[in-house]
Amino acid sequence: MPFEKLKQEYSTCTKCPALCSSRSQVVFGSGNPQAEVLFIGEAPGANEDKQGIPFCGMSGQVLNELLASVGLSREDIFITNTILCRPENNRNPAKDEVENCRERLDTLIAIMQPKVIVTIGNFATERILGKKGITSLRGKVFEVEGKKIVPVIHPANYLYSGRNPEMFAQMKNDFTVVAEMVRTENKQKKLGEF
Ligand code: URA
Repeated sequence: MPFEKLKQEYSTCTKCPALCSSRSQVVFGSGNPQAEVLFIGEAPGANEDKQGIPFCGMSGQVLNELLASVGLSREDIFITNTILCRPENNRNPAKDEVENCRERLDTLIAIMQPKVIVTIGNFATERILGKKGITSLRGKVFEVEGKKIVPVIHPANYLYSGRNPEMFAQMKNDFTVVAEMVRTENKQKKLGEF
Protein backbone atom coordinates (compact mmCIF):
# COMPACT_ATOMS: atom_id res chain seq x y z
CA MET A 1 0.00 0.00 0.00
CA PRO A 2 1.42 3.42 -0.83
CA PHE A 3 2.19 5.90 1.93
CA GLU A 4 -0.48 8.44 0.93
CA LYS A 5 -3.16 5.75 0.82
CA LEU A 6 -2.33 4.63 4.36
CA LYS A 7 -2.45 8.24 5.55
CA GLN A 8 -5.78 8.79 3.83
CA GLU A 9 -7.24 5.57 5.24
CA TYR A 10 -6.39 6.51 8.83
CA SER A 11 -7.52 10.14 8.55
CA THR A 12 -11.07 8.96 9.30
CA CYS A 13 -10.27 6.06 11.64
CA THR A 14 -12.97 5.33 14.22
CA LYS A 15 -11.49 2.27 15.95
CA CYS A 16 -11.15 3.95 19.38
CA PRO A 17 -14.41 5.55 20.62
CA ALA A 18 -12.74 7.58 23.43
CA LEU A 19 -10.08 8.96 21.09
CA CYS A 20 -12.66 9.88 18.47
CA SER A 21 -14.22 12.25 20.99
CA SER A 22 -10.98 13.64 22.46
CA ARG A 23 -9.15 14.31 19.17
CA SER A 24 -9.77 17.14 16.76
CA GLN A 25 -7.81 15.38 14.02
CA VAL A 26 -5.70 12.30 13.34
CA VAL A 27 -1.99 13.20 13.51
CA PHE A 28 -0.44 10.78 11.03
CA GLY A 29 3.19 11.92 11.03
CA SER A 30 5.59 14.41 9.52
CA GLY A 31 9.03 14.68 7.96
CA ASN A 32 10.55 12.71 5.13
CA PRO A 33 8.74 9.42 4.34
CA GLN A 34 11.85 8.33 2.39
CA ALA A 35 14.11 8.75 5.41
CA GLU A 36 16.24 5.86 6.67
CA VAL A 37 15.17 6.62 10.23
CA LEU A 38 11.71 6.52 11.79
CA PHE A 39 11.08 8.15 15.18
CA ILE A 40 8.08 6.91 17.17
CA GLY A 41 6.67 8.90 20.10
CA GLU A 42 3.73 8.17 22.39
CA ALA A 43 0.66 10.15 21.35
CA PRO A 44 -0.20 13.65 20.12
CA GLY A 45 -0.60 16.32 22.80
CA ALA A 46 -2.71 19.48 22.68
CA ASN A 47 -0.44 21.38 20.26
CA GLU A 48 -0.05 18.38 17.98
CA ASP A 49 -3.81 17.85 17.95
CA LYS A 50 -4.31 21.49 16.95
CA GLN A 51 -1.60 21.67 14.28
CA GLY A 52 -1.69 18.09 12.98
CA ILE A 53 2.09 17.69 13.36
CA PRO A 54 3.82 15.36 15.88
CA PHE A 55 6.19 16.96 18.38
CA CYS A 56 5.37 20.60 17.58
CA GLY A 57 5.05 21.73 21.24
CA MET A 58 7.58 21.94 24.09
CA SER A 59 8.71 18.31 23.71
CA GLY A 60 9.19 19.01 20.02
CA GLN A 61 11.48 21.94 20.79
CA VAL A 62 13.66 19.65 22.90
CA LEU A 63 13.61 17.05 20.15
CA ASN A 64 14.67 19.66 17.55
CA GLU A 65 17.49 20.78 19.83
CA LEU A 66 18.71 17.19 20.21
CA LEU A 67 18.55 16.59 16.46
CA ALA A 68 20.45 19.82 15.77
CA SER A 69 23.11 18.87 18.34
CA VAL A 70 24.02 15.88 16.15
CA GLY A 71 23.62 17.65 12.79
CA LEU A 72 20.18 16.25 11.93
CA SER A 73 16.92 18.05 11.20
CA ARG A 74 13.26 17.06 10.95
CA GLU A 75 13.77 16.72 7.18
CA ASP A 76 16.23 13.85 7.77
CA ILE A 77 13.67 11.79 9.68
CA PHE A 78 10.05 10.74 9.65
CA ILE A 79 8.18 10.98 12.93
CA THR A 80 4.94 9.40 14.07
CA ASN A 81 3.42 8.17 17.34
CA THR A 82 2.40 4.86 18.91
CA ILE A 83 -1.18 6.07 18.62
CA LEU A 84 -2.34 8.75 16.20
CA CYS A 85 -4.98 10.53 18.28
CA ARG A 86 -4.77 12.75 21.33
CA PRO A 87 -6.02 11.10 24.55
CA GLU A 88 -8.10 13.34 26.81
CA ASN A 89 -5.98 15.39 29.24
CA ASN A 90 -2.87 13.69 27.86
CA ARG A 91 -3.60 10.46 29.73
CA ASN A 92 -1.52 7.41 28.81
CA PRO A 93 -2.65 5.46 25.76
CA ALA A 94 -4.84 2.49 26.78
CA LYS A 95 -3.75 -1.06 25.85
CA ASP A 96 -6.60 -1.50 23.39
CA GLU A 97 -5.77 1.84 21.75
CA VAL A 98 -2.18 0.74 21.19
CA GLU A 99 -3.52 -2.53 19.74
CA ASN A 100 -6.00 -0.71 17.48
CA CYS A 101 -3.10 1.30 16.04
CA ARG A 102 -0.81 -1.75 15.66
CA GLU A 103 -1.65 -2.57 12.07
CA ARG A 104 -1.23 1.07 11.03
CA LEU A 105 2.26 1.31 12.53
CA ASP A 106 3.29 -2.09 11.16
CA THR A 107 2.09 -1.05 7.70
CA LEU A 108 3.93 2.28 7.91
CA ILE A 109 7.14 0.42 8.81
CA ALA A 110 6.56 -2.04 5.96
CA ILE A 111 6.11 0.85 3.48
CA MET A 112 8.99 2.98 4.72
CA GLN A 113 11.44 0.15 5.40
CA PRO A 114 13.49 2.34 7.76
CA LYS A 115 16.93 0.98 8.65
CA VAL A 116 16.78 2.63 12.06
CA ILE A 117 13.82 3.06 14.42
CA VAL A 118 14.12 5.42 17.40
CA THR A 119 11.53 4.70 20.08
CA ILE A 120 10.87 7.76 22.22
CA GLY A 121 9.90 6.83 25.77
CA ASN A 122 8.28 3.80 27.36
CA PHE A 123 5.18 3.33 25.21
CA ALA A 124 6.93 3.29 21.84
CA THR A 125 9.75 1.16 23.23
CA GLU A 126 7.37 -1.44 24.63
CA ARG A 127 5.35 -1.43 21.42
CA ILE A 128 8.39 -2.11 19.22
CA LEU A 129 10.68 -4.11 21.50
CA GLY A 130 8.18 -5.70 23.87
CA LYS A 131 10.45 -4.56 26.71
CA LYS A 132 9.80 -2.14 29.57
CA GLY A 133 12.13 0.27 31.35
CA ILE A 134 13.48 3.15 29.30
CA THR A 135 16.08 4.01 31.96
CA SER A 136 17.99 0.81 31.36
CA LEU A 137 17.18 0.41 27.65
CA ARG A 138 18.04 3.96 26.48
CA GLY A 139 20.93 4.41 24.07
CA LYS A 140 21.33 0.67 23.47
CA VAL A 141 21.01 -0.72 19.96
CA PHE A 142 18.63 -3.65 19.46
CA GLU A 143 17.86 -5.49 16.26
CA VAL A 144 14.34 -6.53 15.22
CA GLU A 145 13.64 -8.01 11.78
CA GLY A 146 16.82 -6.52 10.34
CA LYS A 147 16.15 -3.03 11.69
CA LYS A 148 18.20 -1.29 14.33
CA ILE A 149 16.10 -0.07 17.24
CA VAL A 150 17.34 2.63 19.62
CA PRO A 151 15.19 3.59 22.62
CA VAL A 152 15.65 7.16 23.88
CA ILE A 153 14.30 9.11 26.84
CA HIS A 154 11.10 11.02 26.08
CA PRO A 155 11.66 14.81 26.00
CA ALA A 156 8.60 15.15 28.29
CA ASN A 157 10.55 13.26 31.02
CA TYR A 158 13.31 15.81 30.69
CA LEU A 159 10.82 18.68 30.93
CA TYR A 160 9.18 17.06 34.01
CA SER A 161 12.63 16.77 35.58
CA GLY A 162 12.96 20.56 35.44
CA ARG A 163 15.46 20.23 32.57
CA ASN A 164 17.97 18.13 34.47
CA PRO A 165 21.33 18.77 32.71
CA GLU A 166 22.57 15.23 33.42
CA MET A 167 19.52 13.79 31.72
CA PHE A 168 20.03 16.09 28.76
CA ALA A 169 23.65 14.96 28.45
CA GLN A 170 22.45 11.32 28.35
CA MET A 171 19.89 12.22 25.71
CA LYS A 172 22.51 13.96 23.57
CA ASN A 173 24.73 10.94 23.89
CA ASP A 174 21.91 8.65 22.69
CA PHE A 175 21.24 10.94 19.73
CA THR A 176 24.92 10.70 18.78
CA VAL A 177 24.45 6.92 18.54
CA VAL A 178 21.41 7.47 16.29
CA ALA A 179 23.16 10.05 14.06
CA GLU A 180 26.15 7.75 13.49
CA MET A 181 23.86 4.92 12.40
CA VAL A 182 21.86 7.22 10.11
CA ARG A 183 25.06 8.50 8.46
CA THR A 184 26.29 4.95 7.92
CA GLU A 185 22.96 3.96 6.36
CA ASN A 186 22.90 7.06 4.13
CA LYS A 187 26.44 6.32 2.94
CA GLN A 188 25.50 2.72 2.12
CA LYS A 189 22.40 3.92 0.28
CA LYS A 190 24.54 6.30 -1.82
CA LEU A 191 27.04 3.54 -2.60
CA GLY A 192 24.16 1.33 -3.70
CA GLU A 193 23.07 4.02 -6.17
CA PHE A 194 26.38 3.79 -8.10
N1 URA B 1 4.71 13.65 22.83
C1 URA B 1 4.60 12.58 22.01
O1 URA B 1 4.87 11.46 22.42
N2 URA B 1 4.21 12.77 20.78
C2 URA B 1 3.95 13.97 20.30
O2 URA B 1 3.62 14.05 19.11
C3 URA B 1 4.08 15.06 21.15
C4 URA B 1 4.45 14.89 22.41
